[in-house]
Amino acid sequence: MTSTDPIAPVVALRGAMLSWAGDPFVVGAARARRYDADAIVAMAGGRIVHAGPAAAVMRALPRGTTVERLPRDALMMPGFVDCHVHYPQLPVIASYGAQLLDWLTRYTFPAEAAFADDRVARRVARAYLDENLRQGITTAAVFCTVHPGSVDALMREAATRSMRLIAGKVLMDRNAPRALRDTATRGYDESKALIARWQGRGRLGYAITPRFAVTSSPAQLEAAGALWREHPDCWMQSHVSESAGEIAWVRRLFPRDRDYVGVYERHGLLGRRAIYGHGIHLSEREWRAIASTGTSIAHCPTSNLFLGSGLFRWDRAKKARRPVRVGLATDVGGGTTLSFLRTMGEAYKVAHLAGTSMPAAHAFWLATQGGARALDLDGKVGNLAPGFEADVVVLDLASTPLVAQRMRHANDVDEALFVQMTLGDDRAIRQTWIAGRKAWDRDEAGAGPPRRP
Ligand SMILES: [Zn+2]
Repeated sequence: MTSTDPIAPVVALRGAMLSWAGDPFVVGAARARRYDADAIVAMAGGRIVHAGPAAAVMRALPRGTTVERLPRDALMMPGFVDCHVHYPQLPVIASYGAQLLDWLTRYTFPAEAAFADDRVARRVARAYLDENLRQGITTAAVFCTVHPGSVDALMREAATRSMRLIAGKVLMDRNAPRALRDTATRGYDESKALIARWQGRGRLGYAITPRFAVTSSPAQLEAAGALWREHPDCWMQSHVSESAGEIAWVRRLFPRDRDYVGVYERHGLLGRRAIYGHGIHLSEREWRAIASTGTSIAHCPTSNLFLGSGLFRWDRAKKARRPVRVGLATDVGGGTTLSFLRTMGEAYKVAHLAGTSMPAAHAFWLATQGGARALDLDGKVGNLAPGFEADVVVLDLASTPLVAQRMRHANDVDEALFVQMTLGDDRAIRQTWIAGRKAWDRDEAGAGPPRRP
């Protein structure tokens, strides 16, 4: 039972469970990963009240609690945390033939201009959040457009689904079409009003969101830093060091700064609750500045491959003497999927191409607890343990005939998880639970739209 609602009914699921006892990048996969073949997750008042071996939890449950037994081949795990995504780009996902800077001009900016119309924002926000539920994404850090209405639309829809969501209006006052530009002052004022409206309301949080150093003047970056100092509970999100062309442009725009990270550093935009997309081409000096300020990086593998941006080096991010908080992210529409299993599979391939590897436990941790930590939400989401918010995904470990036959040859949990992240997709998401309520059930929904919570 929780203190907020002492008479909340307990809902309990029984099946295999994956949860975390530590960080695999620090203690290794075997000590970090907890696997219980027969576990119960009990939820009440939006939180997890028990999670552990079934025999022990059974004794602790109130008499008469109904325990739903999940099918064989089900695996309960924490909901996925998408650390970096642009919901307004959903309509241009899978657009052909451009690298970052071209891609912004040809596809992204025209798509974002349509969000001047609130009805477009509402329609895309609904489609985006429904797709999240179908994919088991229960928390996300989201870029909106320059229009404040694009934030209102997304926050309202997230609130009706009780989702934990962080989002913000993009700040952009140069190097973008006129219709998508604000000014340093207007961007500051509009963001401030949005913070008053949404920050800390239910499960929602506000992120001050300068798109990147190219599209914000020094005055705007300054204003963003000032706003963050006035509202330190808010998040800060942007992009850094994604592509070679972008880095060269930043160098021309900010000749006095020693490097790309130095631009954000000088404007007070690094720190805990700051999360930057990509970080592919960072120097050791930049990594050190990111680590020492507690700043986080969102690794976006499908986007890096699709836009041809480069290969993220998690081994550099996680150097033992200065580990950086890293989360995993879809980066739609530069990214090509909202499936986290697909995203983990591509993270493995990126690591391989970069000369390292990505064990399954590490990928699953980045996709859940690691992401929660990167967003400074650890203790709230990203794990199945008492006190955590009850965001649960139930995987189907035999979601297609190919996966089912491969799983028959899996010898241990790590191999099973690796098969899932290599072969699995949205068909493997059997159920998604948000704040203790079932928000998506693949088998009940059939091919239709997700059921609203
Ligand atoms: Zn992005």
